[in-house]
Amino acid sequence: MAAVLSLGSTCNNACVFCAQGERSAFLPRGREAKGLDLAMGLRVEPGDVVFVQGGEPTLAEDLPAVVRALDERGARRIVVQTNGRRLAYRAYARALREASSKLSLDVSLHGSTEPMHDYHTQTPGSFKQTALGVRHARAEGIEVGTTTVITRSNYRHLAEIVQLSRALGARAAHLARASRFGRAARAADRIVAPEDLVRPQLTRALAEAARLGMGWLAGEKASHAEVRELFAGLGEVEIVEAEALGSSRTTGVVGAASDKDFVETSRLVRAKPPSVNRSIAWER
Ligand code: SF4
Repeated sequence: MAAVLSLGSTCNNACVFCAQGERSAFLPRGREAKGLDLAMGLRVEPGDVVFVQGGEPTLAEDLPAVVRALDERGARRIVVQTNGRRLAYRAYARALREASSKLSLDVSLHGSTEPMHDYHTQTPGSFKQTALGVRHARAEGIEVGTTTVITRSNYRHLAEIVQLSRALGARAAHLARASRFGRAARAADRIVAPEDLVRPQLTRALAEAARLGMGWLAGEKASHAEVRELFAGLGEVEIVEAEALGSSRTTGVVGAASDKDFVETSRLVRAKPPSVNRSIAWER
């Protein structure tokens, strides 16, 4: 069985497709949810997989305590869905790893390059922190899968995003179509890519994942059943053999030691409301 723990909607990214829309903006100080209180109120049966979601769960100051508590209550796996930025601080990645050996991360990665990713998050510097965060997580032995929301601005680069995911150390890649909710609903024509254009690029990307020995998840299809547990979503999937995908050919930064001021800094740095009037802004 699976359970979902939501730690609120606050986020330090401002993604152009965010389903939470403006609810993901920072709450006034003092109104943030206390993660541990929410975790203790969640019904967890021994052997459950628990998905921890936000907004951005790492903005909850007590996330390591939340993870530890879920472990102690018998969770078989704890999946934190995150933009990974706070793990750019190695000590924070270590604190999460020390909280539970059953932790894995579902990290949002929306571009194969810094301009492509930061365009989607509308947050300068987010790519550098996310990429370093994944490296730190893997260096600490935390399992990582990456989730990419497919848009008009990245669908031609899905195979390269998969390659980057692998290079950073991720075990599996989740490629998800943008939904017409939240911010994406307001500018769907600029964000949601036509299905017939996405399909061949998606096929190419999944073949690349298979070639690289990665697991993958795309809609209702997956490389193998267990990969579903790496990502914060529920439901059955159809298993697709690697041979059925055909073949494909395509071809860091320094983090400070302490994350002490991470939340406050994020509050200041978070971008103004996203502008999506240039769908390929990152290419300029
Ligand atoms: S990372 Fe992006 S999509 Fe996820 S909650 Fe934050 S703003 Fe929304």
